[in-house]
Amino acid sequence: MAEKLKEKEMICILCPLGCKMQVSEKEGEPGELLMRGQLCKKGKEYAYEEFTNPTRTLTSTVVVHGAVLPRLPVKTSKPIPIKMIFPVVEEIAKVEIKGPVKMGDVIISDVLGSGIDIVATRSLR
Ligand code: SF4
Repeated sequence: MAEKLKEKEMICILCPLGCKMQVSEKEGEPGELLMRGQLCKKGKEYAYEEFTNPTRTLTSTVVVHGAVLPRLPVKTSKPIPIKMIFPVVEEIAKVEIKGPVKMGDVIISDVLGSGIDIVATRSLR
C-alpha cells in the first residue's frame, strides 16, 4: 500500500500580508516539497521550516522564594521544536529558585540537552 503523502496548510507570519500557503511532499521525491501561495523567498523558507521542523518560543513561570512575587516569568532562549514543548514544560515545573533574579539570568542551562536555556524575562528582588 502506498504511503499517504503529508500535506499542510499554513499562514506565513513573517509580514502583514499573511500569505495562505499549501505545502505537500512530492510523490517519489523524499525530502522535496511542493509549495503554493507564498509571494516571496522568505515565505518559502518559513514554510519549509514549519513543515519539516516547526519550532516555538515557550514562555512559562517558575516558583521563586524570597522575592516580591511568588513566580518568575521565564522563556526559552531560542525557539524549540514543538515536540519538545511538553517535556520542557515538565522540566520547568520541577524548578524552584531563590531571589533576587536579574532579567536574562539562566534558570535552566541546556534544558534536556537541547542546547537551549530557560532564562528569566524580568528582574525580581
Ligand atoms: S510569503 Fe512573503 S509576502 Fe507572503 S506573508 Fe510571507 S513574507 Fe509576506
